[in-house]
Amino acid sequence: TVEQYFRPTKAIIDLEAIRQNVRNLKAHIQPTTRIIAVVKANAYGHGDVAVAGAALEAGATMLAVATADEALHIRKHYPHTDILVLGATPVHFAPYAAEQRITLTVFSPEWVEQAARYVDTMMQPLKLHIKVDSGMGRIGVRTVDELKALEQAIVNEPTMTIDGIFTHFATADEENASLFTKQVQLFIELVNALTTRPPYVHASNTAAALIKDQSVQFDAVRYGISLYGLTPSSYVSSIEPFALQPALSLQTELVHVKEIQAGDSVGYGATFVAEESCWIGTLPIGYADGMIRKLGGQEVLIDGQRMPIVGRICMDQCMVLLRKKYPVGEPVQLIGKQGNEAVTLDEWAARLQTINYEVPCNFTNRIPRFYK
Ligand code: PLP
Repeated sequence: TVEQYFRPTKAIIDLEAIRQNVRNLKAHIQPTTRIIAVVKANAYGHGDVAVAGAALEAGATMLAVATADEALHIRKHYPHTDILVLGATPVHFAPYAAEQRITLTVFSPEWVEQAARYVDTMMQPLKLHIKVDSGMGRIGVRTVDELKALEQAIVNEPTMTIDGIFTHFATADEENASLFTKQVQLFIELVNALTTRPPYVHASNTAAALIKDQSVQFDAVRYGISLYGLTPSSYVSSIEPFALQPALSLQTELVHVKEIQAGDSVGYGATFVAEESCWIGTLPIGYADGMIRKLGGQEVLIDGQRMPIVGRICMDQCMVLLRKKYPVGEPVQLIGKQGNEAVTLDEWAARLQTINYEVPCNFTNRIPRFYK
C-alpha cells in the first residue's frame, strides 16, 4: 500500500548523500576495517529501513540499533544482514534474538545464565558482543576479573558464542585526549585478557574513526552521525578530513498570508506586536512535529531569503514575518538550501543549545519522510 500524505510539511532524505558519505568514510579507514552503520532511533530520525539500505549498498556490512524492538523492525526488511543491539536487552528476548539471528550486547554473567534458560539447544547459537566500560560509565565490564568471569559464563553455554568485544568513547570528539587515551589502554588490556580473540573487536564512533589514528579502528568502526552528513562536534569539524553531505532537509509551504497593522499581535501570549503594518505567513508545522517552542526566532527560507518565526510556536502551526506579500503555497525551506541560502541542523542545534544529534531525533512521526 502506498501511504498518501496531504500535508505539505515533509522531510526529504537524500539517500545519495548517505551513500556518498559512506563511500568517503570507507575510503578513510583501513581496507580491512568493516563499517557498522548505526541506525538506532529510526536512523537518528532519518528513517531506519531506507538509511540501512543506502548504507549497505555503499559498503557497510553490519547494522547497529539500540533496542530489541528496533532490531526486529530492521530484521523484517533485511533478513540476512548482521544486526547488533548496542544496549541492554531483557533476558526473555534471547530466544527471539537466536531465532532472528540478532547479535546482543552482554556485560554480566547473571544475564548469560538467565538468558540461557530461554534459549533452545536446537537453535543456532546466540551471538554476543561483550561490552567494556572503559570510561564512559554507562554499561560494560570494567576490569579483567569481571571480563574473565563473563567470558567463562558464555563459554559454559553451548547455546551462545562470543562474536565481538567493544567499547565506546566519551570524549573522542574533544581536543583533550587524556580520557580517550586511558579508555584505549584499558580496552586493549581487556581484549588481550580474553582467552580467544573474537572476530569483531570495535571501539570507534564517528569522531574516533575520523580524527584519531588507525590503531583504534580495529576490526570495525561504528559510524552514526556521519552517515547523515553531520559532524559530531565543532572540534571535529575544524579538522575533519573531508566534507560530509547533510542528508536531511525539511520543507513546507505558506498556508495563509495576511497583512496586519501596527499594534496587532501574533500567537499565544501575544508576544509579537507589529510596530508597523507587515505581512505574516502561517506555516503548518509546530511543536507536535518536534519544532519546539524554544526555536522561536529561528529563520526560515522563502524566496531564497531568511525570514524569522515570530510569536510563540503553536502545537501544529507557527507564523513568519514576511518581507513582502507572498502567495499561499509559496515553498518554505526550514532546513536545507534554497537559492544561495542554507539553514543547517547545526544552526537549529545552536539555537536550541543542544547537539545536532538531538534535533532530527525529535522530529515526530507526523512528519512524513520522503526519499530521493
Ligand atoms: N556506538 C555506540 C555504542 C553509540 O551509542 C553510538 C551513538 O551514540 C555510536 C556508536 C555512534 O556514534 P556517532 O553517531 O557519534 O558516530
